[in-house]
Amino acid sequence: MTTVTKPEGAPAANAPDGFLSVRDLQVTFSTEDGPVKAVDGLSFDLARGRTLGIVGESGSGKSVTNLTVLGLHNPLFTKTDGEIVLDGKELITATEKEMEELRGNRAAMIFQDPLTALSPFYTVGRQIAEPYMKHRKVSKKAAWERAVEMLAKVGIPNPRERAKDYPHQFSGGMRQRAMIAMALVCDPDLLIADEPTTALDVTVQAQILDLLKDLQQEFGSGIIFITHDLGVIADMADDIMVMYAGNAVERGTVDEVLRAPQHPYTWGLLNSMPRLDSDLDTPLSPIPGSPPSLLHPPSGCRFHPRCTFQDRVAGAAGRCVDERPLLGPDRASACHLTADQKRTIFIEEIKPRLA
Ligand code: SF4
Repeated sequence: MTTVTKPEGAPAANAPDGFLSVRDLQVTFSTEDGPVKAVDGLSFDLARGRTLGIVGESGSGKSVTNLTVLGLHNPLFTKTDGEIVLDGKELITATEKEMEELRGNRAAMIFQDPLTALSPFYTVGRQIAEPYMKHRKVSKKAAWERAVEMLAKVGIPNPRERAKDYPHQFSGGMRQRAMIAMALVCDPDLLIADEPTTALDVTVQAQILDLLKDLQQEFGSGIIFITHDLGVIADMADDIMVMYAGNAVERGTVDEVLRAPQHPYTWGLLNSMPRLDSDLDTPLSPIPGSPPSLLHPPSGCRFHPRCTFQDRVAGAAGRCVDERPLLGPDRASACHLTADQKRTIFIEEIKPRLA
């Protein structure tokens, strides 16, 4: 069974516009080797009509967080604490029946690989029509018409004919479009896109991103966009949350975080991005080391084993190893460096390397 604990002294259960509010989320998996805390005290809000980009390496907790929002973890192996409120409805304590009603209707997900969402045994049209028929209680014929309409909306040529095709008869880009059509068929308030364009070539990727932006304008959904690619975030998102080892380390608007990043991990991510204007022989500068094991996470600041700035932190020696920095509200970064140090280091040492 999923174990549920309400956070002590958590803020009132409502987001700024009454949309999505996550407070002190903790997700722990039972494994053979012991409990793994994949998300550890995460809080964030999403307003309707805005896009939140969540960025971080594998294992940062970004996908786990969003699968939790949709109640997609196996409750036998998962303990979830904290609070997730979507439009006034608490989701952690919701029954499986309530979550089923929510998924594909008010909240939907687009995955990296459409073949995980599309069945090879049914036509594309049927798979788009089914959630519409189920949630909107319409006839088969009306649902089929809606599927054809959605395929047209996502740019599938000759949609009435192509709706009768099976997924294997679609190209990779078309399957991705079909999955977007399936996710949006019930006009969800919340759309979660998990690396939706990673497997596609650059041209198709740009088309899919443009399509998502257009559809958001039309449907007014709140979007959570998960990626490891800061370039995609810059193009898609209004706000950014950078995650590392199960928690947020920096957040702000896209402009704030990309123009004046404050956290050493964000500096590392920016520095490791390939640049279009750089020589092909120019080596990339990856962040040294690798993400920590969440079975035995580092003490204090979880980024400390990889951080080259900890000797600049004022106060007791070893503060980064002993004391976990907390993330403040609004524009913030979880790091013991002072605001002045963050600004100066970025301008004098990091920015020239990014130019
Ligand atoms: Fe680096 Fe210390 Fe800041 Fe963590 S708290 S990011 S170890 S300087």
